Amino acid sequence: MSQTFAIGIDIGGTNTDLGLVRSDGECLTRLNFPTTDCTTADTFVERLCAAIGELLEKSGSPTLLGIGIGAPNGNSLTGCIEEASNLPQLSNLPLKQILEERLHLPVAVGNDANAAALGEMVYGGAKDLQDFVTITLGTGVGSGIVINRRLLLGVHGNAGEIGHSILVPDGRLCSCGRRGCVEEYASARGICKTFAELRQAKGSYNGMLDGFADNQLSPKLIAEAAQQGDALSIETFERTGYYLGLACANVVSHLAPQKIFLMGGPTQAGSLLMNPTRKSFDDNLLSIYKSQVEIELTHLRSNDAAILGAAALINL
Ligand SMILES: [Zn+2]
Repeated sequence: MSQTFAIGIDIGGTNTDLGLVRSDGECLTRLNFPTTDCTTADTFVERLCAAIGELLEKSGSPTLLGIGIGAPNGNSLTGCIEEASNLPQLSNLPLKQILEERLHLPVAVGNDANAAALGEMVYGGAKDLQDFVTITLGTGVGSGIVINRRLLLGVHGNAGEIGHSILVPDGRLCSCGRRGCVEEYASARGICKTFAELRQAKGSYNGMLDGFADNQLSPKLIAEAAQQGDALSIETFERTGYYLGLACANVVSHLAPQKIFLMGGPTQAGSLLMNPTRKSFDDNLLSIYKSQVEIELTHLRSNDAAILGAAALINL
């Protein structure tokens, strides 16, 4: 069977990454530029088109199915990036329309968390699944819900905000203005907050991260300390897993998926996070679902996942 190609573009607040993706999920050529260099929508579009041209030239001008773009608040129904707090210069820019007119290729825009779900479906561990959910742990917590092999979009294209479901009544203040959202416990900053809270509650801590102020912490540092036996860091991942497992058990009550895939930076902690997550999930799962739903790590390589997800937007 002949291979087809798509370009996947992940627009982030800091960097824009582009890659040429073959239909078997191999990311062949990639390049990136700092999104922050482009202070207006016009300069961004110019830079992006130049980068697409460069990518195609490097790749020997393959025949493309189209271009998929994943971005925070990317909306597949409108083809715009809406109200992007990290990308104010691109807010409400009709990116799909602009690029289709300029490049004469199909363009699909979607939110990065939904794109991740499509990436898992087209190129990853959900190739043979009908119903699954992906949860991306990063600065926030994003999620994509696939039912009967279709991404759930909701009325306005923004379904699947599992990160903003309230897990702890009157809990930590969330970036959305409410309290106790999953995101405040399971995102990178949630993990750091948990460590900081535990450290403060203990009163005295002489562990490996003693020299790090709360604002210098990262999940990577905490995971490294936990791997070397730091008790407070291990407890931080146990708490995080407890919350994440609880959130996943709630997801199953709503959607009864075949699998839940976890991805994003903090999942690189591996069993440190996965073991307590699976335990809490099992402890809190409604009995009718017991042994029916698995939580797995994404099958996509972490540095390709965003580009593959974006490319998958065009494959549907
Ligand atoms: Zn929230």
